[in-house]
Amino acid sequence: MKTIIEPFRIKSVEPIRMTTRAERETKLKLAHYNLFGLASDDVLIDLLTDSGTGAMSAEQWAAIMRGDESYAGSPSFARFEAAVQNLMPFKHIIPTHQGRAAEAILFGLLGGAGKRIPSNTHFDTTRGNIEASGALAFDLNIGEGRDSQSMHPFKGNMDLEKLAAFLQEHGDNVPCVMLTITNNAGGGQPVSLENIRAVAALARAHGHPFIIDGCRFAENAWFIKQREPGQENSAITDIVRECFAVADGMTMSAKKDAFGNIGGWLALNDDDLAEAARVRLIQTEGFVTYGGLAGRDLEAIAQGLSEIIDEDYLRYRIGTNQYIIDRLDLLGVPVVKPAGGHAVFIDARAWLPHIDPLQYPAQALANRLYEISGIRGVEIGSLMFGRQPDGSEKPAAMELVRLAIPRRTYTQSHADYLIEAFEMLKAEKDSLRGLKVVKEPRLMRHFTCRLAPL
Ligand SMILES: *Cc1c(COP(=O)(O)O)cnc(C)c1O
Repeated sequence: MKTIIEPFRIKSVEPIRMTTRAERETKLKLAHYNLFGLASDDVLIDLLTDSGTGAMSAEQWAAIMRGDESYAGSPSFARFEAAVQNLMPFKHIIPTHQGRAAEAILFGLLGGAGKRIPSNTHFDTTRGNIEASGALAFDLNIGEGRDSQSMHPFKGNMDLEKLAAFLQEHGDNVPCVMLTITNNAGGGQPVSLENIRAVAALARAHGHPFIIDGCRFAENAWFIKQREPGQENSAITDIVRECFAVADGMTMSAKKDAFGNIGGWLALNDDDLAEAARVRLIQTEGFVTYGGLAGRDLEAIAQGLSEIIDEDYLRYRIGTNQYIIDRLDLLGVPVVKPAGGHAVFIDARAWLPHIDPLQYPAQALANRLYEISGIRGVEIGSLMFGRQPDGSEKPAAMELVRLAIPRRTYTQSHADYLIEAFEMLKAEKDSLRGLKVVKEPRLMRHFTCRLAPL
């Protein structure tokens, strides 16, 4: 059969509310043209993020009832720890309430003034936690990773030559080497097993721990199976184990590839580092067997980990992205290719060349998409990155609209509705105008700033 179906049926539904275009225009105006300001029940299909927005399975809800809320030594922790170690064979598994908490603990220990930490591309909270410690974060992604039309199969790869030169130059000040799989900030593009092993070998040769930011490890393993020569017959579980076998630790957001609505962990092999991390965990998150989570959350994550590696799920998951990208491509909408793991990216600078980057073409596009269809995406461009520390403004490298796909939440007809919305956008796009910022906070303005149409 060629048709890829949703590999689940629906036991419990969550109604979504239809609104009219006129209503949505009013709502957007009241939100000062910032999609973060909308109430989510005024959104029909919410593609703002894939983080914590997935649907849990019947087995996860059942596991939640088994959650044991003991402060210390909960059997829910034992199940969580075993589920993680089944895939990622690290010695110490330290639960946290989110991925960023794992980062804060890790870089609180490894960071500090003068330290330099390389990765393919650091996710924003990772960079934030590194910089908050006084250290510097460096992105050494291969050049193809920044070219929206390059068809390189592993655009998330680390540039090994750059990494080798970096370690040569800064060796003494590098506390660890990181690698993000898939490369979220670089469009959810995968990293090959060969590249993971090569980065691990370089880190080891220079005596630095190698830490994987593994938020989308299952999607990355699926791409390895599909695209990496010699891996087509490997089981996803084995690919996952191979990826983590060469690492010394990992940070994880269970809101991504663990089907959790909340949660994360830090995993380490080094006994001393783990002991220091647990001290910080107790200070900031909670005791070592719950780390800021309820016992029931640990159960949901443990069960989720056994479901995320299912090949039927991954085929459907990546197939959804591919389906949307192929059809948008046919419509002539410039999309980032090839399909990444968790989101579809529209190149607004290419599609709306009449709008100056500093008049936020991707925001204008995301806003009109909401007005037309009730679908919410997010701008990743000059509104998000344009404001410089010295107060000046400069265009971002790209002007993208990201449509992140929550896990197991929407169906094919939602995808078809999205594609139809782009047909309408195509007819209207030349009439779109840019925006100006009328009020903004000092930092991370895109979340709360107010805009007005020009
Ligand atoms: C989401 C994410 C994080 C942070 O995780 P939170 O659970 O949101 O704190 C870190 N790295 C990557 C690659 C992510 O996608």
